[in-house]
Amino acid sequence: MRRAILVTLDGLRRDQIDPDTTPNLVAFAGRAETFADYRTVFPSCTRVVSASIATGCFPARHELQGNSMVLMEDGVLVAHDAGRPDFLQHKRKVTGRSLAVPTLAERLAGHGGAVIFSNVSPGAAYAHDPDGHGRVYHRAGSFGAGRIPVPASEQLIVEPNIDGDRMTTHRFIDEVLVERGPALGVLWLGDPDATQHNHPLGSAEYREALSQSDARAREVMDAVEERRAAGEDILLIVGSDHGHQTVTGVIDIEQDLITAGLKDSENSRDVVVSSNGTSALIYVHPGAADRIPSLGLHLDRANWTGRVIPADKLHLIGQAAHQHLAFAVSMRASDETNIYGVRGTSLVARPAFGKPDRMGCGQHGGLGTYEQSPFLMISGSGFAPGSTRRTSARVVDIAPTILAHLRLAADGMDGAALQRHASQIAAQGA
Ligand SMILES: [Zn+2]
Repeated sequence: MRRAILVTLDGLRRDQIDPDTTPNLVAFAGRAETFADYRTVFPSCTRVVSASIATGCFPARHELQGNSMVLMEDGVLVAHDAGRPDFLQHKRKVTGRSLAVPTLAERLAGHGGAVIFSNVSPGAAYAHDPDGHGRVYHRAGSFGAGRIPVPASEQLIVEPNIDGDRMTTHRFIDEVLVERGPALGVLWLGDPDATQHNHPLGSAEYREALSQSDARAREVMDAVEERRAAGEDILLIVGSDHGHQTVTGVIDIEQDLITAGLKDSENSRDVVVSSNGTSALIYVHPGAADRIPSLGLHLDRANWTGRVIPADKLHLIGQAAHQHLAFAVSMRASDETNIYGVRGTSLVARPAFGKPDRMGCGQHGGLGTYEQSPFLMISGSGFAPGSTRRTSARVVDIAPTILAHLRLAADGMDGAALQRHASQIAAQGA
């Protein structure tokens, strides 16, 4: 039977893979094809990437615009934390749909099914299957088809840390790889991302987290090899969703806009900023649309912006002006090193919802070089072991690649299958 296994080590930067810290990934590169120019989406945030991996589409199409984003509700711009367990259910009530395009879980219902084990935020976990077509296991609640909760004895009771990742991995191997055997199994671990947010990149804690994540990947690789030896044709995809930059400053964008006379007050809904770590989404109510030119000038001149993308250019970064999104901002980033010699710094937009600002530690969300550089290695038919592909690959290519392996159509996706000679492989299966 043909199956696909996707393992995501959240937040692991491509340039941090080395024989000392991640020996198992280095060894896997000898058996897999490595992608030297793998790119993530904007914002480079877990929930958004989760939706893009699940749908094969950029945010412009799936409409999960950010880790935090705004919905127009009864004529009012309302800011939301998309990490909350109920966000996509709420979005469905407001807009008529959770994600605007089908997920792999939906496409695979009736074709072997999908099972997701995730130890990141609830919003990111449920973005893989917001409408209950497959099975999703997460500490905030695990669901089977129809979003019916799995029995209490089967719930995933883990913490969002390295121990939790270990327990999640072991259950994934036992239940998904060995017992259930769905067409698609997704294991999404919270580290090294979780540790990088709380400790400087390059610190001892950071190196330990990398090495633990590397060990988890090894456990899955070994289990996949056993299944392959038993005759299964498994596509194994191991990668990350984004990297990190070191936070060197925190900008309160809403306060800045109030001071500049471009937003009325702290709680006004004329202009609403959704912080996405090292980026921000700026929404303008139609009643305040006459401010957009001045806002654009202000953002272009501000010393804290890196790249400012106005509404008519959002397609260039895979976004669209849904929900009155007027500007996307990638905060000012640099190639400088932190105290441990790890390259890449960035300013961040002051987080809402009382979240910590991560000063001196890692953050992501923008278009900085390192946060935009996740890693990707694939082993299985259509990929050349030990080779490195230099042409660009994108997170939206993962879903069509999985469907190509399963001999299923990937119609309506932004990405394209990464298999070499994908057309010949499809023709053989037809
Ligand atoms: Zn992430």
